[in-house]
Amino acid sequence: MSPATCFEFCVGAGLDLFALVQGEECRCGASRLNKGVWGEKSAPPGHLQLPAPLSSCLTDQACPVRVYRWLGPFVSGGSVPEHLLMLKHDRSIMNVGNTIYVDSIVHGKRITEEQEEDGKVPPPPKEAKLHDVEHLKEQAVDPRWDRPCGDNPGCQAGRQWKNRNPVAPPGMVAQWEEYVIVPYKFDAGVDDARKEVFRAAAAEWRLHTCVALVEDDDAALFYILVGIYDLNSCWAHLGSPEPYYYYHQINLGWCKEMAHKGSLIHEIYHSLASLHEQQRADGSQVYYGKGPHLEMFWQNTGKWASQYDPNVDSYIGSADDGGDDPQIGYAAYDFESIMHYYRQRNYSNLDINDGYYYNTIPASANTLVGNRVGFSQGDIVQALDAYRCRCGVYQCGA
Ligand SMILES: [Zn+2]
Repeated sequence: MSPATCFEFCVGAGLDLFALVQGEECRCGASRLNKGVWGEKSAPPGHLQLPAPLSSCLTDQACPVRVYRWLGPFVSGGSVPEHLLMLKHDRSIMNVGNTIYVDSIVHGKRITEEQEEDGKVPPPPKEAKLHDVEHLKEQAVDPRWDRPCGDNPGCQAGRQWKNRNPVAPPGMVAQWEEYVIVPYKFDAGVDDARKEVFRAAAAEWRLHTCVALVEDDDAALFYILVGIYDLNSCWAHLGSPEPYYYYHQINLGWCKEMAHKGSLIHEIYHSLASLHEQQRADGSQVYYGKGPHLEMFWQNTGKWASQYDPNVDSYIGSADDGGDDPQIGYAAYDFESIMHYYRQRNYSNLDINDGYYYNTIPASANTLVGNRVGFSQGDIVQALDAYRCRCGVYQCGA
């Protein structure tokens, strides 16, 4: 193990301290300058601080642990710069499990993906209400990959955003026939670091799809209000608020640094009407001859079981919607989706499948799940399909 390899691994995960143990093992940590890791905590708790170096070790080559510190700069209020993050796109290492592990250490207790990334989503506040909410009309189309994507209810679980414009918004390449305008504005009290991460996640959507997340401080009807509503979680209301609410919300509480950009791409996807990939009808059971793709260990999922219950309204492909439709019919199950949950463990049930919530089918996909680096190819196809993004005069880049 060389310091350079250890550096790449630790800094790639947003951690600025790295250490070689006996010259062989790489350990990562975070200095107090690294606000992205410590968040609102002003300093690491005492038991997590390094002891003073042994005086004999300042020159001795045989020090048991050799600690290095990345000297910065720190950006976004105190994070490792984004271009250094995720240097390793090896998803068996860089996944949401890694983020949760770091946050569990910072908070001194085990945190689950569900708590952190989605939390308990409250309904929109009363003042956001415009009309009484009715349930989406059932669409008696089976299998669900034969549903059209166009009108609500479309080919996703939530209501789709409907404001389409043929003119590319500022900053977007004029490559699509139409752009789906999704305005957002920040609520009071959002710090610059969180705004920066959210803007970066919104930019990913504009780069890869025709969905134009545009910041609009004057938005008054049908927009996303982005704020801090619960410091211990990140969440988003599902789909468009139209026609029942003035706005839906995204909570940036836990998503506070660049290392959480992938989690915000994920939350925005909820705002754009998508559920989790593992909630597909063919995720944990057979559906019209497809699946299952997960072998569930329900004893281990405990109170989070509902995140794995098949939901027939989840996206699973769609009918031919005309034009150069990127997806017609059944869409392949996507283990690498940014909407797929990590393979978590229940540490009080280690006797059942080592506590893992599930095994993938095939088992070789176990290392693919939990991607929060960026869109998978399948994520992009789903978004282009659901929002009927069609190439305009220029060739569309994905
Ligand atoms: Zn989620």
